Amino acid sequence: MNHQKRLHDELTQVKSNILVMLSKSPHPAHQGLITTLKHTANNEWLDLAAKRLGPEYANLINRMTMLEAAVSQIDIGQYGYCCDCEEKIATALLQKDPATQRCTKCAIKRTSN
Ligand SMILES: [Zn+2]
Repeated sequence: MNHQKRLHDELTQVKSNILVMLSKSPHPAHQGLITTLKHTANNEWLDLAAKRLGPEYANLINRMTMLEAAVSQIDIGQYGYCCDCEEKIATALLQKDPATQRCTKCAIKRTSN
């Protein structure tokens, strides 16, 4: 199972979903944003999109944030560890969702809070 490839594939997918949504948008500003985003580097892409897009994009932006976080964790060798308690995240969880950020215990704690 290649988590890195899955993360990159999904990032590409989410990004194109955002662009497709923008291309159907009635706001003239969004058409200009498409051009800007097409010329924006990966690391600034998410920042720019998050700042410029409305709440209807929140789900896609959140997902992209999670995916980007997981990708940068791979880069620094911290991938697969819980961001709260630093325990190793179960392989089954990562297989289900390679962008998982928390172990089962901490995920439950967060949703019950
Ligand atoms: Zn944890």
